[in-house]
Amino acid sequence: MPVAPDAPHAAVARQVAGGWQLPAIANLHSHAFQRAMAGLAERQTHPEDSFWTWRETMYRMAARFDPDSLYAVARQLYVEMLEAGYGSVCEFHYLHHAPDGRPYADPAAMSQALIAAARDTGIRLTLLPVLYMTGGFDGRALGERQKRFGHDVDGYLRLFETLHAQTGDMLRVGCALHSLRAVPPDAMRAVLAALPADARIHIHIAEQVGEVQDCLAIRDLRPVEWLLQNADVDARWTLVHATHLNDWEVAGIAKSGATVAICPTTEANLGDGLFRLREYLDAGGAWGIGSDSHISVSPVEELRWLEYGQRLVKRRRNIAVGDASTSVGETLLHGAYASAKNATGFDAGGDTLVLDAEAPLLAAATAGDVADRWLFSGNRPCVKDVHIAGRRVVADGRHADGAAVLAHYRTALAKLSGM
Ligand SMILES: [Zn+2]
Repeated sequence: MPVAPDAPHAAVARQVAGGWQLPAIANLHSHAFQRAMAGLAERQTHPEDSFWTWRETMYRMAARFDPDSLYAVARQLYVEMLEAGYGSVCEFHYLHHAPDGRPYADPAAMSQALIAAARDTGIRLTLLPVLYMTGGFDGRALGERQKRFGHDVDGYLRLFETLHAQTGDMLRVGCALHSLRAVPPDAMRAVLAALPADARIHIHIAEQVGEVQDCLAIRDLRPVEWLLQNADVDARWTLVHATHLNDWEVAGIAKSGATVAICPTTEANLGDGLFRLREYLDAGGAWGIGSDSHISVSPVEELRWLEYGQRLVKRRRNIAVGDASTSVGETLLHGAYASAKNATGFDAGGDTLVLDAEAPLLAAATAGDVADRWLFSGNRPCVKDVHIAGRRVVADGRHADGAAVLAHYRTALAKLSGM
């Protein structure tokens, strides 16, 4: 049904002194260490370059990290997230052990580096320690470079409990299953049964066609079909990517109440494919955005490319709209806000960002057009202030500790790059 042109705007922005206030945005998917390789995998190594060749570069970078460099990279990343208007981040964390696969003296050392980085910058953190056990659907052992990601079920649950005991106002701890190919069915069931009732559960799923084919070959079902039939998927779940879906899967995820974490800039960068957004919105599905590999750290770019991808494929305009608004920007922001609590575990409705009223792209703005102007007009950042948990963490576009954080980041990057 066409949307009536005079459908009421559900205004998302409120005029305040010097700007326009909106809720801060939840970043539903992050691998902090990957920020260190942003832009370093853009040279062709083979005409068939793909996710799988990118992963080789990523593994080389992952092998160099220790707790100090992870802290330095995550802290810089979280400063950039706050300055871009993200108020919380779900950290899908699998870099657990030393490069040779042996646990650090403190087996949670890498997780603690992420917790410290979030605490020291003021971003809310949903830490999702990842269970990663096998190198494929056939149950093969982890490869040499995957060893630092691995746990058995007992070891994983010990890590989870250590971290979960630290839960507080700014920290939630949930569970991440790396993917169906990395977690055997019996291990999945054992871990899910042991989690606290309110724990959030995130999983990478159906990002790659190869993964769908392998799952079909070994488990006789597509990944999302298999998950929906073998786990009690509900509003505590976040399905990351869910790129390759058939109609039954689109409807099934929507009906389950789970959130899909769509990561448009990373999915574009890796050549994954396009999420079936229009069909999923029609089914009433919940979704949010993640910056995943951090090839971009900008909710503006994620939301814009979510819409632009659909336009390019469908050769139409203004696709992501719903009953509440004819504005694409309003609809996208409402979608991201609506899923945040289920996906992150935070009730963070009071966290806000303020867009600078003096920014050229907001000249003569009204409450009804601020969202569209912000998301679709160019790329000059215009987030002025960010308040998280009542604290102003970004003022006049800058984080207070930005200079010191950047200095540590430069040192860490030089070391990681072998300079
Ligand atoms: Zn990911």
